[in-house]
Amino acid sequence: MTEDSPALEIPPPREDRPPMKANLLNAMQKANTSLTPLFPYMHPGAIVPTGALFIGQPGKDYGQFYHHNTVDEVIIAFVAEGGNLRTGQLYNGGRVHGVNSFMKDQTKAGSFVLFSVTQRQADPGEVQTEAISLLCEACRKPLFKAEFDATPGPEARELEHPFPSINAPPERLAQFNADPAQRECPECGHDNPPFPLHQWGWTDYAEQSKVMARAKQLLLAAGEG
Ligand SMILES: [Zn+2]
Repeated sequence: MTEDSPALEIPPPREDRPPMKANLLNAMQKANTSLTPLFPYMHPGAIVPTGALFIGQPGKDYGQFYHHNTVDEVIIAFVAEGGNLRTGQLYNGGRVHGVNSFMKDQTKAGSFVLFSVTQRQADPGEVQTEAISLLCEACRKPLFKAEFDATPGPEARELEHPFPSINAPPERLAQFNADPAQRECPECGHDNPPFPLHQWGWTDYAEQSKVMARAKQLLLAAGEG
């Protein structure tokens, strides 16, 4: 280090963005969705750690989809019993990665995986895009793709900006589920089953996000009255 090359320094956090910590076990004990952000910070450049929990039981079927993301995601298998990743294993799935239960046998009682999935939001001025896609279960040809803008707003926080990865898909997948024409494979004619949305909890997250954002507005209005 010389006077001409100053040390790289990370500035201290802003006063209105204090450092936060969470216990992943406590967080996922009561999360309403299989993937949930642990902290409210969603702004450009923010590190966004989430928790992910899948639980095996007889008859369970999480299905499978592909997640497309223009930012990287780093997965740590915190604890797994019967998982495809072992406890402590680190994994980067790439910008397009398959998502399923991550269990060897999702119908086996006692199996579970508890992951953290961490992404770094796009920097200011950059576009962040995500998509969810499905393949035909019979011939593996692309069947469905829902793309959505996930560009973080300048001061985005989770309450006003629910995590797009879980907030955007339910509506589009519900349309897919309700429309047999969309589920019929144009290649092989296979009648694909509806995506098992109810296993993922995303609909609850989207609904509770709407209600809590409205609750904040009402609370602020009451304070002004
Ligand atoms: Zn097909």
